[in-house]
Amino acid sequence: MRVLVTGGAGFVGSHLCERLLNDGHDVVCLDNFYTGRRENVAGFAASGRFELVEHDVEQPISLPVEQVYHLACPASPVHYQADPVRTLRTNVIGTLNMLELARQNNARLVLASTSEVYGDPEVHPQPERYRGNVNPHGIRACYDEGKRAAESATMDYHRQYGLSVGIARIFNTYGPRMAFEDGRVVSNFLVQAMAGKPLTVYGDGSQTRSFCYVTDLVDGLVRLMARGGFTGPVNLGNDGEFTIRQLAELVTRKYGGAQIVEEPLPADDPTRRKPDITLARAELGWSPTVALEQGLEATAADFRSRFAAGEGR
Ligand code: NAD
Ligand code: UDP
Repeated sequence: MRVLVTGGAGFVGSHLCERLLNDGHDVVCLDNFYTGRRENVAGFAASGRFELVEHDVEQPISLPVEQVYHLACPASPVHYQADPVRTLRTNVIGTLNMLELARQNNARLVLASTSEVYGDPEVHPQPERYRGNVNPHGIRACYDEGKRAAESATMDYHRQYGLSVGIARIFNTYGPRMAFEDGRVVSNFLVQAMAGKPLTVYGDGSQTRSFCYVTDLVDGLVRLMARGGFTGPVNLGNDGEFTIRQLAELVTRKYGGAQIVEEPLPADDPTRRKPDITLARAELGWSPTVALEQGLEATAADFRSRFAAGEGR
């Protein structure tokens, strides 16, 4: 198969490209390097089956491909809030363009949506039928509402044009190749610990998240692509739930760090988040396999070697 991965030079996208290459596919990685890095995909050219296309999804493009994974979008709050209008354009116009590309090729498209479509959830854990509690005027709305619009567009292409689609609602994912400076909690804590600095807990740290190791997530995306006829939306995430303070304590215990300090909680920061993964288990035969401590160990090893090579200093 010739498979397109938009956002393929990013954190999740690069792991997906690697998995697809290992599965024997030809991979086209489309990225504008807004938050992605060339180093993430530097090793893939040696396969002879990897092509890099520098392109912004806000512009239409025609490429011959048989499957499309659409991941292009800044994912961390720091990045998607830096230029919120651009984030909205990427999600809405970019997704319409990639749907059109898929339609031209009669290719199945899997959309990387997000648990953020549930906003600050009033239902816990979150099943796919829950319609969410998003603040449409808030600082996260460019991303949350952008992804909700991307889901709408994806379902409209399915209903109106018969396009085969799958929608994955991805919960917090971590692992090697996360950008040091992208502001997400796992990367922040590991970088802070390795630099011997205080770990910054926002608010009192009682808010919860569920952390999925990246190879587990990638396996879920691949299973969703393989399950033609199933649109979802389907939650992909680890259903272990941790407070942010618990995560900080785990990281300081294992990897150091000066102490834990509290900083102001950002606006609209969801209070609790944990996926109900009943649907993914039933429809995709998928469930996460990597426990948090084990995944952190692999992530820390990657961070340590990048740190030693001078990154982040
Ligand atoms: P990332 O920022 O590392 O990767 C995003 C990639 O998209 C980058 O390579 C970036 O350069 C590229 N990109 C951004 N805007 C683009 C544009 N207009 N045109 C072309 N390329 C563009 O983030 P990630 O964590 O790898 O996230 C990948 C996808 O998964 C995103 O769609 C994100 O919303 C979704 N997701 C991720 C998580 C998570 O915890 N990592 C959670 C929920 C959803
Ligand atoms: N967070 C934190 N310290 C940090 C970075 C994040 O306490 O240095 C908190 C953040 O406020 C949120 C949680 O950790 O409650 C997860 O944040 P992240 O940006 O990783 O993802 P989100 O789930 O908010 O999109």
